[in-house]
Amino acid sequence: MPNPCVFCGSTTSKINKEHVIPNWISKLFADEDSQGYGIIRDGKLETAFIAPLLQQTVGVVCELCNGGWMSKLEHDVMPNLGPMIQSGRTTKLPPQSQRLLATWSVKTAFMLQDFKSGRRLVPDSEYRRFCSIKQPPPGYDVFLARRIVKHDSAGRKILMASDVRRVERMDTILPRTDERVVEVVTGLQTGKYVAFTTVFTIGPVVFIVVGHNIPIVVRLGLSFDRLVGRAIRIWPIDDRGPVTWPLKRLWEIPR
Ligand SMILES: [Zn+2]
Repeated sequence: MPNPCVFCGSTTSKINKEHVIPNWISKLFADEDSQGYGIIRDGKLETAFIAPLLQQTVGVVCELCNGGWMSKLEHDVMPNLGPMIQSGRTTKLPPQSQRLLATWSVKTAFMLQDFKSGRRLVPDSEYRRFCSIKQPPPGYDVFLARRIVKHDSAGRKILMASDVRRVERMDTILPRTDERVVEVVTGLQTGKYVAFTTVFTIGPVVFIVVGHNIPIVVRLGLSFDRLVGRAIRIWPIDDRGPVTWPLKRLWEIPR
């Protein structure tokens, strides 16, 4: 039996090679002579190397997803996202644009998981949950921030960087002894539940995706306080209306 599509679970629709970072983004940077890629930790660039990352593909998505909702999503985010990542254009994002960008951020964060090693952090069930509603699932948070595009030691631009990690700490308003909390803490240890952050940057835009499959209201070990004044929340949507990217303060945070 063929591998199922990671998003919709179909085993009958053909699996296509899909760009991790869509090709239209790669074309925005076609003038750059090389495209750098980095690993970031705690807001700092840890390592950098030159790789054709913007051309990386994974064979995990079926042609119906690829040519259907994913293709439409790319088309829909392009008018705002293109100028943001190419030139850092200040962009006002009404609720509908926040929804689209947040959905795109989760889709891209899911494509950036480590499929090749088989040690992928985000379980299939989260891909299915996302695919069934085509927007970030309940409990997810998505933020946008801005960084200065770094250069490596040879002076080449690091156009993209990413950081995928498991979140092990969580807070909840429920008492620690509450049996639901005990169940979740045990579940995080045994792998029944998973909480993760994926931070990735393309050009000057930083995307921060926080997700989990924990069935109670929790505050994850990622310090949201660190994000205040540095990142705008686009999911859940701010019902007070439009938000504007970027904020003045940069994402880079000293340790
Ligand atoms: Zn599919």
